[in-house]
Amino acid sequence: MSSESVDAVVVGAGFAGLSAARALGKRGLSARVLEARDRTGGRTYTKVLPGGPWVDLGGQWIGPTQDRVLRLVEELGVETFPTYTAGHNLLVVRGKKSRYRGTIPRLDLVSLLNISFAQWRLESMSRKVPLEAPWQAAKAAEWDARTLASFLDANVKTRTARALIEAGLETVFAASCKEMSLLHALFYIHSGKDLDMLLGTEGGAQATRIKGGMQRLAERLAEGLDVRLSSPVRRIEHDGSGVMAHADGASIRARRAVVSVPPKLASQIWFDPPLVGPRAELVKKTPMGAAIKCTAVYEEPFWRDDGLSGMCVSDEGPIHVTFDNSPPEGTPGVLMGFCDADSARALGKLSEAGRRNAAGACFARYFGERARAPRAYVDHVWELDSWSGGCYGAFMPPSVWTSLGPAIRAPEGRIHFAGTETATVWSGFIDGAIDSRAR
Ligand SMILES: Cc1cc2nc3c(=O)[nH]c(=O)nc-3n(C[C@H](O)[C@H](O)[C@H](O)COP(=O)(O)OP(=O)(O)OC[C@H]3O[C@@H](n4cnc5c(N)ncnc54)[C@H](O)[C@@H]3O)c2cc1C
Repeated sequence: MSSESVDAVVVGAGFAGLSAARALGKRGLSARVLEARDRTGGRTYTKVLPGGPWVDLGGQWIGPTQDRVLRLVEELGVETFPTYTAGHNLLVVRGKKSRYRGTIPRLDLVSLLNISFAQWRLESMSRKVPLEAPWQAAKAAEWDARTLASFLDANVKTRTARALIEAGLETVFAASCKEMSLLHALFYIHSGKDLDMLLGTEGGAQATRIKGGMQRLAERLAEGLDVRLSSPVRRIEHDGSGVMAHADGASIRARRAVVSVPPKLASQIWFDPPLVGPRAELVKKTPMGAAIKCTAVYEEPFWRDDGLSGMCVSDEGPIHVTFDNSPPEGTPGVLMGFCDADSARALGKLSEAGRRNAAGACFARYFGERARAPRAYVDHVWELDSWSGGCYGAFMPPSVWTSLGPAIRAPEGRIHFAGTETATVWSGFIDGAIDSRAR
């Protein structure tokens, strides 16, 4: 087993770890990145299907105000293209299908007003949550004692409004409104500006895609960095003089360690001596969300001929929101459906054939029988992926922010923590992961 010495050892080659290593390199410091998987990119994952096309099974979109990732795209000279939005969107409520354009679906007036009211309340409350310290919000104790679902119980009155708002929020958070602290939901909304930005396509977080897939950007970022793949870090010894990281097949000494893995996975690394601060407790209390991007490939994007954008919002499951995820040249046609939270946990328990059938049935209900039998189907069950443990990111159940929040970014001795979960702006997103390098 080899043992070398560098300025910093970085655990994880996702956007946070790679960006941290790049930032250290720019300051003339040596950094070795140890990555468990046999690829870089972490929760971004682009798969090239036999005979094409490429599909993004993890993080894929960027949008306005995500200045760090937009700058990186420009610096690395990666090409982008807009998400396909031409045509009508679909709304499916209680079995009835209707078409609409833009962001406001055709609903009964009471439900529409109720959704606008709940959105307005969530957004105005979210602006009162300080991004650096959510636990310092004037009403932090009250909001952290409640779930997001309890807010909806009190503020959303019609069944249609509740079903649609819950479908939208669960697609944003990849977690159930029943399990998430209201304070966490408000922090996340503020971190991504507001709900229109988080849910929006044109002008929103789903505006832009990377040609060739998002993982290409991670690969470009990794070029020239000292990254060792297939090197899961099992143990980190640390004291006042430095750290020693033990990965499969190699040990490396460094002045400092940057741990850029999701909190749940940080709890699986053996710190020697054990971390004593509240962070040790925090990582055990921050579960990961669950989401599966069900991706179906067809010869053509046939829904476009019917004047449809491929975007559908539905109160039925297991897929509640769909997008046209075709490559920029337009063929083959790719439909992607988000299955989130409890639906994703249930779908993830099925075999691949079971998931394909369930997704095909949803696509057929929304886009017609042609959608039932794609030429290819692919997905990735992030919850069962040992090196992510879920997605899009970790979330806080009630009372975690207020009891353990200050530990989220605090270093312990020579060990520093990065990763999208530690970000203040665009927390949970690629942009937030890059932002976390700054520490
Ligand atoms: C389905 C899905 C859809 C998403 N959609 C979007 C989107 O459209 N836009 C957006 O901005 N964000 C999206 N996200 C979120 C985004 O992908 C993440 O926020 C971001 O990639 C996280 O980066 P990170 O570097 O913080 O963590 P990760 O990407 O999780 O990186 C951590 C790395 O550490 C490695 N690792 C873990 N444990 C160890 C260990 N012990 N030793 C060594 N290595 C280890 C992992 O393999 C991984 O490579 C999505 C995520 C998913 C999964």
